[in-house]
Amino acid sequence: MQPAISVKNLRKRFGDNEVLRGIDMAAQDGEVITLIGASGSGKSTLLRSIPFLEIPDSGSITVGDDHLAPTGGHLSRREEVVARRMRGHLGFVFQGFNLWPHRTVLENVIEAPIHVQKRPRAECIEEAVALLDKVGLSEKRDAWPAHLSGGQQQRVAIARALAQRPRAILFDEPTSALDPELVGEVLKVIRALAEDGRTMVIVTHEMGFAREVSSRTIFLNQGIIEEEGTPDQVFGNPVSDRCRAFVSGHFDRNR
Ligand code: ADP
Ligand code: MG
Repeated sequence: MQPAISVKNLRKRFGDNEVLRGIDMAAQDGEVITLIGASGSGKSTLLRSIPFLEIPDSGSITVGDDHLAPTGGHLSRREEVVARRMRGHLGFVFQGFNLWPHRTVLENVIEAPIHVQKRPRAECIEEAVALLDKVGLSEKRDAWPAHLSGGQQQRVAIARALAQRPRAILFDEPTSALDPELVGEVLKVIRALAEDGRTMVIVTHEMGFAREVSSRTIFLNQGIIEEEGTPDQVFGNPVSDRCRAFVSGHFDRNR
C-alpha cells in the first residue's frame, strides 16, 4: 500500500542556513506522526514543504498518487499544477487561528468544499454541521470568529480542514498560541481524530499528548532526524542523548 505521505531525502536551505539536511519520512494511512525538536530545528519547514508552501532544494514528496521532485527551489508551471492537487489532499491547522474574520463559523467550514472542490452546497452544509458537532461547536455555527475563544477558533479550523476530506492533516503547533486553560479542549479533539484513524502529522511541544497519541515520533535536530520510533522508545528509552535531554526537559517543565 502506497503511504499517504512520503518524503525522501529532503533538503532545504535559506541562504547559508541549511535547515533540512536530508529528511526521509513516511506516513501510512491511519498513522499519527508527531514531530518534536527544539525551536529552529526545521519542524515547520519540513511540515510546510509537504504541501509545497516551502519549495525544497532537492528530494521528493509523494502525496497519494502524486509525486514531485523539484530542483532549484522553485516549481515549474506543470509542477505547480501537481503541487496544487497535492495541497488539495491535505488539511492544515497552524498555530494562529487563520479563520476568515468576515465569515461565520459555518461559512468558514463550507468555503473550500463549495468554491474550491465544487461540491454541492447542501451536501457541504450537511457535512459541515456534522463536523462542527464533532468538534463540539454545533451551537456556534452562525457566530463570528472574533466572538469565539482561541480554543474554539482552533476547533473550527480543525473542522474546516476535515471538511475538505483530506487524505492527511498537518498540524503545526496547534495549541501553542492558546491560553493554557484552552489547550486541553483542542488536544481532546485531535485525540478523537486519532482514535478515528485519521492520518496526521503533528508538530507539537505537548510531550504528554505526543506520547499518548502517536504511532511514531520523530525528533528533529538541526535539520536531521536524530531519533525516530514508537513513542515508548523515543520518550521512554531514547538512544540519542540530545533527544533524552530534550524530552526530559519538556516533561520537567510541564510538571
Ligand atoms: P522550527 O519550526 O523547528 O522552530 P523552522 O523550520 O521554523 O524551525 O526554522 C528552521 C530554521 O530556518 C530557523 O533557523 C529559521 O530561522 C529558518 N527559517 C525558517 N523559515 C525561513 C525563511 N522563510 N527565511 C529564512 N530563514 C527561515
Ligand atoms: Mg515551527
